[in-house]
Amino acid sequence: MNMDSHIEQILWTPEQISDRVSELAVQVTEYFKDEDPSPVIIGVATGAFLFVADLVRKIPLPIAVDFIRSDSYGCGTQSTGEPSISLDLKIDIRGRHAILVEDIVDTGHTLSCLIDLMKSRGALSVSVCTFLNKSVRRKVQLQLVGDGKFFCGFECPDYFVVGYGMDYAEKYRNLPYIGVLKPELYG
Ligand code: 5GP
Ligand code: MG
Ligand code: MG
Repeated sequence: MNMDSHIEQILWTPEQISDRVSELAVQVTEYFKDEDPSPVIIGVATGAFLFVADLVRKIPLPIAVDFIRSDSYGCGTQSTGEPSISLDLKIDIRGRHAILVEDIVDTGHTLSCLIDLMKSRGALSVSVCTFLNKSVRRKVQLQLVGDGKFFCGFECPDYFVVGYGMDYAEKYRNLPYIGVLKPELYG
């Protein structure tokens, strides 16, 4: 069955997404163009996979690309107080500019934990590049590190959105647009 019939409203079309990703790539390139080494792009799995793929192809710098996945809600915490990471970086971030790339920032818990983790590992700076920002739902303010900067695609209204990497129960990530599910599809 075609997933389009599950969507109540499209918020951003593929063209709008592509145009905005291009603008973000220009901003990131301009900010980091004189840095050597170039930053490490850290995609937060799984939701950021399409955004990362689109973004990095529009940044003409010798960046590195890696992925990280935090378990459960936020990073979760084990008894050690360390964030619970189920997929870790391959790249050593010490002395590097880290750019955490997210699909959407909601409460801010996930990114806040990941920023702290990058800081504790000795990143030279930690920036965030999120495609969507639901700032009305923020619970934790993001404390960027060093000269880190906050790059954001669009302010997102307070809907649960799917598509362009974002899921509901692991579905709809492959929608090429971002939309809102019909209410009867939840639950
Ligand atoms: P936070 O820790 O900021 O509350 O949430 C971060 C993660 O929750 C996001 O990276 C995303 O995976 C998920 N999330 C938050 N809001 C939405 C939403 O509207 N739709 C979807 N599909 N996932 C969301
Ligand atoms: Mg995410
Ligand atoms: Mg999800």
